[in-house]
Amino acid sequence: MDITGKLLLFCGPSGSGKTTLVHHLLKIHPRLKFSVSATTRPMRETEKNGVDYHFLSVDEFKKKIEANEFVEWEEVYKDRFYGTLKSEIEKIWMNNGIAVFDVDVEGGLKMKKIFGDRLLSVFVMPPSVDELHNRLRTRNSETAASFEARIAKSEHELTYAFRFDQVIKNDQLEDALADAERIMEKFLYNS
Ligand code: 5GP
Repeated sequence: MDITGKLLLFCGPSGSGKTTLVHHLLKIHPRLKFSVSATTRPMRETEKNGVDYHFLSVDEFKKKIEANEFVEWEEVYKDRFYGTLKSEIEKIWMNNGIAVFDVDVEGGLKMKKIFGDRLLSVFVMPPSVDELHNRLRTRNSETAASFEARIAKSEHELTYAFRFDQVIKNDQLEDALADAERIMEKFLYNS
């Protein structure tokens, strides 16, 4: 079956566990390739430039906006720009890959509008707001200010779930991983 050109997109609040689900799918399906976004936020200790993100200055990011290099971009937090580069998708397609995206809800809805049925949008739901707060609290990458901003954004993002093609509740990780696999297989092979 020809699955070329299909796209898989994951959204969900910071702390919902979507990155864990995405990494799992990338590991088990060799044709899935992560679309590395551009961002102006500082790199975390565990991250690598060009692997997790293309880390840019605000000036560099704005130049790319002007040059029309993004499929979509958002100022997710103040002065923290994030965007999906056209060049990433082109590179993945040239290598026969299925592009996988991890974006915020606004970016996700924009991408769905652009790509329609070629793209499956998946929303990852944390078990509860309390649990989401706990997960964000235990992430030591956050400063107090960014922690508050992430909580506010996360609660807002939860109200978008119904606008996605599929919702995965990340209550028990094993179940959520199995759901993600099943949803991916069905989308790619209609099985
Ligand atoms: P983080 O700083 O935790 O890596 O990401 C913050 C938020 O930005 C997450 O919701 C993440 O999905 C989102 N994000 C990452 N890349 C992109 C992108 O290319 N476009 C948009 N719109 N959001 C992104």
